[in-house]
Amino acid sequence: MSETPKSWAMLHCKCPRCRRGNMFTGAMYNIGLSKINETCPRCGMRFEIEPGYFYAAMYVSYALNVAESGFFWLSTYLITHNTTSPWLYISVILGGCFLLSPINFRYSRVFLLYWLSPKVHYQPHLDTYDQIKHP
Ligand SMILES: [Zn+2]
Repeated sequence: MSETPKSWAMLHCKCPRCRRGNMFTGAMYNIGLSKINETCPRCGMRFEIEPGYFYAAMYVSYALNVAESGFFWLSTYLITHNTTSPWLYISVILGGCFLLSPINFRYSRVFLLYWLSPKVHYQPHLDTYDQIKHP
């Protein structure tokens, strides 16, 4: 029995407790159909730990947007050396953040559950192939 690496589990949006079950349904860019599972399909962990828990994900998402905006701003400057048109920067940043919003939606919740939830712990005994769902 080998443990699933945390970085792999985060990248693939796996449950923080068993690192096996998918946190989300549907493909990432399947807008409208991609949503978070209520509970882990493998270990049964409830992802929304308490009512309204994912409001906190909005702050994580905001931080991601700020970081991405900085990245887009810098990239636009390095590529175009534009110093006269703010609209170029604004459209690149807004367009980029729009394109990345499905990623932000997922990873804000992944970061919240992996890094900002002290009550959630990895449980290696659940990280097995033959694990079946139990209440
Ligand atoms: Zn799980």
